[in-house]
Amino acid sequence: MTGLARKLKAIIESEGPIPFDRYMQLCLGDPEFGYYITRDPFGADGDFTTAPEISQMFGELVGLWAAETWSRQKINGPVRLVELGPGRGTLMADALRACRVAPDFLAAVEEICLVETSPILREKQELKLQGRGVNIRWCESVADIPPGPAIFIANEFFDALPVRHFIRVDEGWCEKLVGVDEDGNFFPGLTAEPEQLIRAEAPVGAILEICATGHKLAAAISARIVRQGGAALIIDYGHVETAYGETVQALRRHVAADPLTDPGESDITAHVDFASLARAAAASGAVAYGPITQADFLNRLGVVQRAKALRASGNPVQAANVDQELRRLTSTDPEIGAGGRMVPGMGDLFKVIAIQPSDAPTPPGFEPDAADPDQ
Ligand code: SAH
Repeated sequence: MTGLARKLKAIIESEGPIPFDRYMQLCLGDPEFGYYITRDPFGADGDFTTAPEISQMFGELVGLWAAETWSRQKINGPVRLVELGPGRGTLMADALRACRVAPDFLAAVEEICLVETSPILREKQELKLQGRGVNIRWCESVADIPPGPAIFIANEFFDALPVRHFIRVDEGWCEKLVGVDEDGNFFPGLTAEPEQLIRAEAPVGAILEICATGHKLAAAISARIVRQGGAALIIDYGHVETAYGETVQALRRHVAADPLTDPGESDITAHVDFASLARAAAASGAVAYGPITQADFLNRLGVVQRAKALRASGNPVQAANVDQELRRLTSTDPEIGAGGRMVPGMGDLFKVIAIQPSDAPTPPGFEPDAADPDQ
């Protein structure tokens, strides 16, 4: 039994079965045994990979997005560049390198704030970013970021926030709980009393996942941007409209795993409900742009041209790698996913939204396509 399994068993034995979101939160973020707290999960030897780990082009374009957004908004005085869940620090390193072409922006960046709870990943970020001539502050949460204009970046962060999981029954919605048997095996259960507060209408058996943490965080960031200036760019896999269905998945060594087996040893994520994030932004008085697909976003920012430049500067092997990276980031063709099922290509599965004050000009990548009158 893992250390976290023993801890969870003790909690459930004393308090009774726990809601799924609490289980997920402990699996990922338990200060002693949590998945992210105890390891570096990325890369071929790890459990999963992410866009900045696939290609330097991703972080470079996100960095240029931040610089151009800052310039379009004509933000005066110092600004903070904030990243939520920076992983190995790769995106930020690529972003800062690319921003050398925007020295005014770099000069205005007073501080890089990295919101990160994992001590192991904080160390990796420090190593990756040292000697770049920028001040770095690590924060436990968004609330710890000093006041002032800030540009927020979050890639594959919201999908790691815990979701409550409900199933529709005749009289309302029952919440998924996690219990434990005598042998220490975790099993799913349901609350006895259906929840009456959820108003959504759906057929019996429908599953609804609610990420209250993500909604509240998007609201807090939006409210801050409205009051103090700045913008947010959120990139993640997820759906455009609030939808029914189970999306929680666990990954271990790039293969689908059971979230209830060996807690703390696999990455657990859920699709991000972009409609909920956009509602949170609007309710806070901000404007949400998108969601658009990652493919559209990167293409509009010039990923093809960037790939061409990289291809020209490298040897034939490097050139072939650039082609492959470009395909992985922007492909909309279905591919075989971790569970052996067909999933949309990354360019389609991943979505992007931007949040800004209502009087700010449209951020790069979100301009209506002149060729497409429907957008
Ligand atoms: N953005 C990176 C890493 C994504 S993985 C990339 O694209 O490669 C999720 C990241 O969020 C990890 O760095 C993890 O440690 C961090 N994280 C997860 N939950 C968190 C939380 N509640 N608060 C702060 N950081 C968190």
